[in-house]
Amino acid sequence: MKVFKFGGASLNSVERIQNVGNILTTYAGEPLMLVMSAMGKTTNALEKVAEAFYAGNKEDALNLFNLVKQNHLTTAKYLLVTTYNKTFDRLNSFFTEVEWLLHDKAVQSFDYYYDQVVCVGELLSSCIVSAYLNEKGITNEWIDVRDIIRTDNNFREANICWDETIQNIKRAGIDNKSTIYVTQGFIGSTDQNESTTLGREGSDFTAAIFANLLEAENLTIWKDVEGVMSADPKIFPGACLISELSFNEVIEMAFYGAQVIHPKTIKPLQNKKITLQVKSFLDPTLPGTTISNKASKNLPPVIVLKNKQVLIQLQTIDFSFIGERPISELYHLFAELNIKPNLIQTAAINVQFCVDDREEKIQQLAAKASEFFDVQVERNLTLLTIRHYDDSTSTQLLEGKQIVLTQKTKTTLQALYHEAK
Ligand code: ASP
Ligand code: MG
Repeated sequence: MKVFKFGGASLNSVERIQNVGNILTTYAGEPLMLVMSAMGKTTNALEKVAEAFYAGNKEDALNLFNLVKQNHLTTAKYLLVTTYNKTFDRLNSFFTEVEWLLHDKAVQSFDYYYDQVVCVGELLSSCIVSAYLNEKGITNEWIDVRDIIRTDNNFREANICWDETIQNIKRAGIDNKSTIYVTQGFIGSTDQNESTTLGREGSDFTAAIFANLLEAENLTIWKDVEGVMSADPKIFPGACLISELSFNEVIEMAFYGAQVIHPKTIKPLQNKKITLQVKSFLDPTLPGTTISNKASKNLPPVIVLKNKQVLIQLQTIDFSFIGERPISELYHLFAELNIKPNLIQTAAINVQFCVDDREEKIQQLAAKASEFFDVQVERNLTLLTIRHYDDSTSTQLLEGKQIVLTQKTKTTLQALYHEAK
């Protein structure tokens, strides 16, 4: 069995979905597990719905949701002929679920509502694609992944309960023998049947979970780029394709924020030695990038930018040294609040680190840390990471930047600087 993941850009229009159909006809007769993202920028649009709802703007939330709804109905209408009515009913039941919720008062956490609203993006896209493929003769079975992927209730960044997920796959009779399955990436559910999400761009991770549990031959992630590039070509026109990469290298790149692949994707693949391919859905004849256990050789400087960073500086209140105790208190806080520092540096009486700008979490962290430290917070920063850096690349990229923190190892240079106004 092969596992394919189709990202949002590959499902962004009627033509793009037809293109997915064309790609799949070249794999006729093969067992496939097809993992779908939400169409285009649907997840961003749904985030806005959840935000409006949580801010108490019910009308705005419903209006914003209506845009998402119309967009999917239009796509389904153009794409489907014989199964439109049946699909319309299915889409409608998902719409209704969200609309009911939007009429409620918010009594739970934002993250909870976020997941209940945002999860619908993948449900809608996969329903439409599944119906379209069936009409095209690519007979497939649609699976609600929330019946399979069991998670804890850490909403927006849910953790997989592997044992239950394995049981669910068995119970559902999913195997790697003959069928084509269509399912959703990015979402799962708790044992209370509450929807969860696995973190933005999490569809890659879902695909890797299936590849691992179904012992797939390989996983292909279909994207709108040629493969893994040395930098984002939209920002750095000199970016080049990297045709072979090791799991190690990719996990580092993803960790530092490269948008190529979700960071959690690699472990399930590496553990079962399943090769990962990143290929262009715009030109499937191109070789793309192959990621495997083989060591990467002769890599160019790999550039990763992470925007919306916040620098938090902590200084011990009583001028005592930053030692084991304050550091362990700090790491406890990270774990408790589920915060991942992207860069951390300690000195005699202070420690500074940068994290993604998540308002609610930063406030909680600042409040709790102020028991032990003086806390300063600086926003609107960018974290630049260069793997395999050389002098000319780093000089060029850092020229004129207002740098607030740098860190260098033998392979990796990182610099945090003010975002351009
Ligand atoms: N639709 C989700 C997102 O945009 C998950 C994914 O595409 O991987 O983040
Ligand atoms: Mg995506």
